Amino acid sequence: MELLERQIKQKGKVFEGGVLSVGSFVNQNMDVQLLSAMADEVAAHFAGKNVDKVLTVEASGIALAVLVAERMNCEAVFAKKSKSLNAKGEAYEAECRSFTRPGVNIISLPKEYLPENSNVLIVDDFLAVGNAANALIDIVGQAKANLVGMSVAVEKGFQGGGDALREKGVDLLSLAIVESMEGGEIVFRNN
Ligand code: 5GP
Repeated sequence: MELLERQIKQKGKVFEGGVLSVGSFVNQNMDVQLLSAMADEVAAHFAGKNVDKVLTVEASGIALAVLVAERMNCEAVFAKKSKSLNAKGEAYEAECRSFTRPGVNIISLPKEYLPENSNVLIVDDFLAVGNAANALIDIVGQAKANLVGMSVAVEKGFQGGGDALREKGVDLLSLAIVESMEGGEIVFRNN
């Protein structure tokens, strides 16, 4: 998505360890007009797929997920990054190693929020090695729901998570794919 790529070039910040910050316009200080245009792209790509739920993980995927759900006329739901306080067995749980923070989280989602056979679109801000995506896909599987596809604002192509999902047959729409950030220079795939 050209508009997003331009904004990443202008405002994105490259940090040590392959971390890109888009906090000033996507996931902390939010450019709502840009996010709306992003949600339009996602909704157009998955139109006609009868999406029942847009699923994300707290916190930074929520804004885009809500805007996508509004366009797809369905609900948005997020997994929490902590073990559920619900009674045992009432929540789906999956292990997720965080890319930006040390350690492993157990992400959780109350079972009642993801009905069996529902058509689920996963949305997140970043896709790096794919741990968050795979944890969410695991939850979709536990729920016996159908994974329609996944969309992320930014895929860091050099970290391989996106290509592994494509190889598994996941319909993955990445609005921008960063192929390299060497020396702080952001290069997009297919450019
Ligand atoms: P993965 O699980 O695919 O390795 O990483 C995806 C998750 O880690 C996303 O939910 C996102 O919050 C976080 N993440 C991964 N890479 C970055 C990055 O370069 N910048 C930011 N801000 N978050 C990232």
